[in-house]
Amino acid sequence: MDLSGKIALVTGAGRGIGRQIALTLAGYGATVIVNYNGSKEKAEETVKEIEENGGQAEAIQCSVADFSQSRELIDAIVKKYGRLDILVNNAGITRDNLIMKMSEDDFDAVVATNLKGAFNCVKHVSRQMLKQRSGRIINISSVSGVMGNAGQANYCASKAGLIGLTKSVARELGSRGITSNAVAPGFIHTEMTDVLPDDVKKAMGDQIPLKRFGETQDVAEAVAFLASDGAAYITGQVLQVDGGMAM
Ligand code: NAP
Repeated sequence: MDLSGKIALVTGAGRGIGRQIALTLAGYGATVIVNYNGSKEKAEETVKEIEENGGQAEAIQCSVADFSQSRELIDAIVKKYGRLDILVNNAGITRDNLIMKMSEDDFDAVVATNLKGAFNCVKHVSRQMLKQRSGRIINISSVSGVMGNAGQANYCASKAGLIGLTKSVARELGSRGITSNAVAPGFIHTEMTDVLPDDVKKAMGDQIPLKRFGETQDVAEAVAFLASDGAAYITGQVLQVDGGMAM
């Protein structure tokens, strides 16, 4: 895969899956904007690692949950680089609880980052991508958005919403050469899943046909494929990277 000359924005790319996506896209030649919200040092480490490997990147702070900040982020990228080819909406949070105990704030916060954050970025890049008559939008959903999950009504609603957003954008922008797809990871080794108790991790692992959690690289390679020329005729799809968990 060759992403040379492409400008990519990966949201929430200082750590976890986003970090690996940034490293991988840069490894295939893209110039990567490493967005972060609170993890400045980690985002700068990601940029440093990309540069040490011969790639190009820069870190920019922005909370994607904020409509105006997202617009400023994308305007700054377009002003500096003159284009934006690949948007990966990866930023995400969890505030798990059973529905009976879930607060309104916890519901709103998760939807604001995971779903509205993606809307904000898609909306603001769409003008530039329409002008370019090309673009790749990749939304990081979750198998939880496909299957539902007890204790995660807010998270699952946001991730299912992302699938609806992905498909609608695919229909709206397809005639201008812009593709919109979702990647739905299963259980991936990151800080988000490291906090789970060992017995829960084992029970989850047992349900996965490939009998292991995925690695961030598994997700990053799927994203890179959807961003590549080889995926030019794929849009509106949900690519599950879940070891067969949600067949
Ligand atoms: P993580 O390690 O907790 O990282 C979350 C990332 O999101 C961080 O880089 C964080 O940035 C960023 N973020 C949170 N709020 C933000 C905001 N308002 N604006 C910008 N960035 C923000 O999570 P992860 O496991 O890598 O997950 C990445 C994505 O994959 C998420 O969308 C998640 O839902 C999805 N996913 C993960 C799994 C899994 O098993 N891990 C499975 C399915 C789907 P800062 O640190 O800078 O705040």
